[in-house]
Amino acid sequence: KVEFKPKTDVKGLIVKNGTVEGVETVNGEKFFGKYVIVAPSRSGAEWLQSEAQALGLKTLNNPIDVGLRVEVLASVMEDLTSVLYEPKLIYYSKSFDDQLRTFCVAPYGEVITESYNGVLTVNGESYAERKTENTNFAILVSTAFTEPFKEPIAYGKYLARLSNLLSGGVMIQRLGDLESGRRSTHERIARSVVSPTLKNATPGDLSFVLPYRYLADIREMLHALDKIAPGIHSRDTLLYGIEVKFYSSRLQLSNCLETKIHNLFTNGDGGGVTRGLVQASASGVIVAREIIKREKPKA
Ligand SMILES: Cc1cc2nc3c(=O)[nH]c(=O)nc-3n(C[C@H](O)[C@H](O)[C@H](O)COP(=O)(O)OP(=O)(O)OC[C@H]3O[C@@H](n4cnc5c(N)ncnc54)[C@H](O)[C@@H]3O)c2cc1C
Repeated sequence: KVEFKPKTDVKGLIVKNGTVEGVETVNGEKFFGKYVIVAPSRSGAEWLQSEAQALGLKTLNNPIDVGLRVEVLASVMEDLTSVLYEPKLIYYSKSFDDQLRTFCVAPYGEVITESYNGVLTVNGESYAERKTENTNFAILVSTAFTEPFKEPIAYGKYLARLSNLLSGGVMIQRLGDLESGRRSTHERIARSVVSPTLKNATPGDLSFVLPYRYLADIREMLHALDKIAPGIHSRDTLLYGIEVKFYSSRLQLSNCLETKIHNLFTNGDGGGVTRGLVQASASGVIVAREIIKREKPKA
């Protein structure tokens, strides 16, 4: 029998003598079980990190991904998206030798906002039943921080808060305005050939939000992308900020994704081992197979 408990937040893990015994919800209800799989995704990554600290589990820093969402006319990306729904393009910047990549390409889609505990960031989606004239995608810069820094999630949130502070939410800027060193305004956005699909973004100046390194990297990659999809580096290209991926701490795990606490597994984006739907699903299968193996009666 499987029982689902939706809309029930887990507050803590119950652990005794190095073995997991269950979970406790925010309402104080306790659920006991031989195995616990924790998969709280990116929104719960910070919670998992604090739980890990309380339980004395070591966390390793994953690189943090920070960037912008780019919106262009769908026709600009058509040659790519018609043959590959989600082209994954990787670029190493000349200025800093940073790795950048395109992420979550949304052909004929819409730019949307995401809220992480009150911090607004951007993302993109395509819908089966409605299409826009635009395609959007993220350009993310990966940074692996070194000692003594241990809080990449807090860093990402800090940058997102800066954007929220200056714009009251999400900021939008035309690439041409960014290149000319001026803010975008409602009038300038209205003159853009690309009409924003996220209507409530505030025109502003992203150079007040993103550190120089990220901005220089992203501008370089837009130049490079223009060679394979002419029109990406146009003054009417829209940039939304900021996009951050909060899966930035990883617990020390065995090959079957078990923590140092016996029978406590973690998988998916929150555990820091995956960064997308297919990997997250596959990581669940790895854990399930291990549990089945342990439960099989010994011959
Ligand atoms: C807008 C958007 C677009 C995306 N587009 C793509 C895409 O195009 N391609 C792609 O591969 N991936 C995409 N992703 C990423 C993909 O959704 C994730 O990689 C995947 O869902 C991660 O799976 P998961 O099982 O780790 O977490 P999830 O599927 O997010 O499930 C985690 C669940 O845990 C719950 N939770 C968190 N904390 C607690 C707690 N303390 N107690 C109880 N429950 C808790 C959450 O509410 C959530 O329901 C997108 C994500 C978003 C948000």
